[in-house]
Amino acid sequence: MSKLITMKFGGTSVGSPEAISNVVDIVTRETGMGHRVIVVVSAMSGVTDALLGSVKQAIAGNKWAYLETARKLRDRHDDTLNILLPPGKNRESTQADIAALMDEYVEICQAVNILGEATPRIWDAVVAFGERMSARLVAAVLRQRGVDSCAYDAGEFLITDDQFQQAVPLWDETQARIDNTLLPLLQRGVTPVITGFLGATRDGSITTLGRGGSDYSGAIFAACTNSDELIIWTDVDGVMTTDPRLDRRARVLPLVSYQEVGELAFYGAKVLHPKTVQPILDKGIPIRVRNTFNPGHPGTLIRENGEQTKTVIKAVTSIKNVSLLTVSGKGMIGVPGIAGRTFLASAQAGASILMISQSSSEQSFCFLVTEHTAEHVKQAIETKLAAELARRDIDRVEVQEDVVILTAVGSGMRGTPGVAGRVFSAMGNQGINVISIAQGSSECSISFVVAESDLERAVIALHDLALEGVA
Ligand code: ADP
Ligand code: ASP
Ligand code: MG
Repeated sequence: MSKLITMKFGGTSVGSPEAISNVVDIVTRETGMGHRVIVVVSAMSGVTDALLGSVKQAIAGNKWAYLETARKLRDRHDDTLNILLPPGKNRESTQADIAALMDEYVEICQAVNILGEATPRIWDAVVAFGERMSARLVAAVLRQRGVDSCAYDAGEFLITDDQFQQAVPLWDETQARIDNTLLPLLQRGVTPVITGFLGATRDGSITTLGRGGSDYSGAIFAACTNSDELIIWTDVDGVMTTDPRLDRRARVLPLVSYQEVGELAFYGAKVLHPKTVQPILDKGIPIRVRNTFNPGHPGTLIRENGEQTKTVIKAVTSIKNVSLLTVSGKGMIGVPGIAGRTFLASAQAGASILMISQSSSEQSFCFLVTEHTAEHVKQAIETKLAAELARRDIDRVEVQEDVVILTAVGSGMRGTPGVAGRVFSAMGNQGINVISIAQGSSECSISFVVAESDLERAVIALHDLALEGVA
């Protein structure tokens, strides 16, 4: 039976001519078997950062620097094209497309240079060039290999609100566009290569879904086309027991649940964007995470029900660059609404809260936000709670920097006593001080805060617990 598969390829997977050859092998294997494939691509590795850097250079008036960035980007895409495609119409027309995009990019940088500032809309317009170029490259190489393929800017199908840099899909409109324009393409046998990470507002301005958002794009296209499967092709064999860059003993998990992967992603596992499971959940579409550079490996299957491992703790993640805010005061006891107003102030200051913890004495509570928002959030809280501070109901709002959040994930924690005990004994045995603890009511994860200087030892000690369960 013919399947519809959405495949998302990350930055490293399209980051070199060899990688793109692998991508094309992977796609043509499926199309050759009569399956239909929607390809979603990231920018070539490093390109998004370079583009963001060039906006900064343009704002600072450093014309030489952004022109140099533009030259390097142009060369990298051109070289890749020249290596992968023989001279001829396909190569020339793709080269012309990419050159036109690069010209547009430099024009925007010039405008930013003159104005000395960039709005969020401009940042998105610039950063989009990475995916717009890689999609054209990949489609051209697929055509070369006999696939009827064409590149599409995601904004043709994916309509979002106008929160530039962090846009949210408008589902009904997106679904309608996909039904009316993308599905007919697939029926005609076209293999579309769509830019990940990007959308567009109703009036056509380019938006982005947040850093690492191509995984989310893959999920949106898989859900709205009712794909049989979403495959996230990346540079590791699957979802692992921890980030292999932090501990080389990390092992691939063959099966994890949507909920477990949601917690892992939220608490810092870069392998999937935290929003990836959202569109997929209701439809129950299976997700696979696989390695573009090792396609023989089956990878990780993510679906509704995972399986419990012997140790219950399946995986370990960490988030750096966070700050701990503590609101404390003896007069807080029994005063309603302090926590509510604190979180409202944080939201109004634009910070999202990563973890919350309150002791039962109600004399203090603490929560974590990303480091760069912490001072701003502190000021917002002090303004909102000025009366309580003046009355000394609240003594102080403190910011503690140089901390990290560690999270142990495993859905079997629900109903298995003693997991938290094992986690904190492991920290105790290492002499690591645990600053704050939180466990969600879903009991699928335990998070806690330690000093940043303890990060590596804490990850290793916690990872030991996860590895005990892997055969
Ligand atoms: P892509 O460009 O394909 O989206 P990313 O760099 O965004 O790739 O994500 C893949 C990286 O995520 C891996 O190279 C790995 O270092 C990191 N990572 C962090 N935690 C995990 C984990 N638990 N399992 C697998 N990879 C992880
Ligand atoms: N290229 C974008 C980024 O680097 C999106 C992605 O790779 O998922 O954030
Ligand atoms: Mg990624």
